Amino acid sequence: MTAQILVVDDVPANIKLLEAKLSSEYYGVITAKDGFEAIEMTRVHKPDLILLDVMMPGMDGFETCRKIKENPEISHIPIVMVTALSEKSDRIKGLEAGADDFITKPINDTALFARVRSLVRIKVLLDELRLRDRTSVEMGIAHNRSNTFVADVTGSRVLLVDDDTVQGKHTVAKLTETYAVEWLEDPADTLKTAARGNFDAILISTLLSDVDGLRLASQVRGQEETRNVPVIVLVDEDDTNIMLKALEMGFNDYLTVPLDKNEMTVRIRTQIRRKKYQEMLRSHYQQSVSMAVTDALTGLYNRHYLNSHLENMVRKAQQDNKFLSLMILDMDHFKSVNDSYGHDVGDMVLKQLAEIMMQTARLTDLAARFGGEEFVVLMPETDRNAALIAANRMLETIEKTPFNIGGDKTISRTVSIGVASLSAAGDSGESLLKRADEALFEAKNGGRNQVRWR
Ligand code: GH3
Ligand code: MG
Ligand code: MG
Repeated sequence: MTAQILVVDDVPANIKLLEAKLSSEYYGVITAKDGFEAIEMTRVHKPDLILLDVMMPGMDGFETCRKIKENPEISHIPIVMVTALSEKSDRIKGLEAGADDFITKPINDTALFARVRSLVRIKVLLDELRLRDRTSVEMGIAHNRSNTFVADVTGSRVLLVDDDTVQGKHTVAKLTETYAVEWLEDPADTLKTAARGNFDAILISTLLSDVDGLRLASQVRGQEETRNVPVIVLVDEDDTNIMLKALEMGFNDYLTVPLDKNEMTVRIRTQIRRKKYQEMLRSHYQQSVSMAVTDALTGLYNRHYLNSHLENMVRKAQQDNKFLSLMILDMDHFKSVNDSYGHDVGDMVLKQLAEIMMQTARLTDLAARFGGEEFVVLMPETDRNAALIAANRMLETIEKTPFNIGGDKTISRTVSIGVASLSAAGDSGESLLKRADEALFEAKNGGRNQVRWR
């Protein structure tokens, strides 16, 4: 997987070194020599990952990181702090500033590439979700929303799987300051508990006495209910192999034992924020998809959807040798509703009409708003007679139902309906609609409030 990486360092030799390492693994590298340039390059090039030096004159790495994480356009880009100091407080400070991870100089290649690969993988997923979101906005079926990469994580649900009683107690005590924690001392129930717990993060020790923790973690990752829950493994601080293996296997992060409690809290926070960000993008996408096929006023399917669906239904009916009918329904003298009570009341009436149609149509029928005050109901496995019965029932129900026009006032309305049924092979959705429309025209000419068939 190739990716573009921004390397930020005020010392040219450091840049050269990292650039050489990364290029040899076929990553594209761009560089910046200070925080200001880093922010500008990030805005312009949107790299897949930023390696950010901490000690820089002017604006240090922490502040640069904070600034990038404040900008919704670029806040999702992962940042790895590169620090010469192995001071714990600096690590925490970096993570507090929103960094996803840190590495210490001199840089260990294997650790660097494991981190890079793991973060780039996540970035690619986020990009895909962001792209769908943008497409929906561009198509005009979704509003431009603020996609800021911040979410309050207080109260998020964390599952801890650790059979070390003493360590577990301490971990829980610390985590409880921020999160709602469930602790499994017996790993046997992990999969079930994880599946039903609706957790925002799952911590699994790899130092369990009877169970292979990495394997357990990958089972959690593999099961449907927990697929998108970040999994963090606890590893012995001297066991570099297992750390790298954990990242290669695609776990979101690891924590070294003995645990640094503050580091634990912020690393979990990073993971939960990312999860919430992904959830937000996913739900925006789903909303957009449903907006693309439904009519905003009535909630019925829209014309665009009807057109493509109708052709599919016609093909299927012809293949299976089944009946198919449809009706076009148009409110009589609807213009006078607008003229007498205003456009808003007109909208209310249309909404109520859609509700009546939904309630009156059968579950297998599909109702759509075809245009202004024209609606279509598709009726699968329905022949001419059955369709006429359905249309007349619809007509009578509408005539009998009072339409609310605000306050306690109601009005009565009628509709005209044209019905058509699929005939022998060679018929199409388009000509079916056309015949129903001609029938509707006859119903209007015949004096309205009636059903005609073609
Ligand atoms: P007819 O019995 O011949 O169908 O008469 P009509 O007045 O219902 O039909 P016409 O096609 O002359 O007018 C339809 C009106 O519907 C005109 C248009 O302004 C109004 N209309 C279309 N879409 C909407 C809408 O979404 N909301 C409201 N309030 N009115 C709409
Ligand atoms: Mg009308
Ligand atoms: Mg009309």
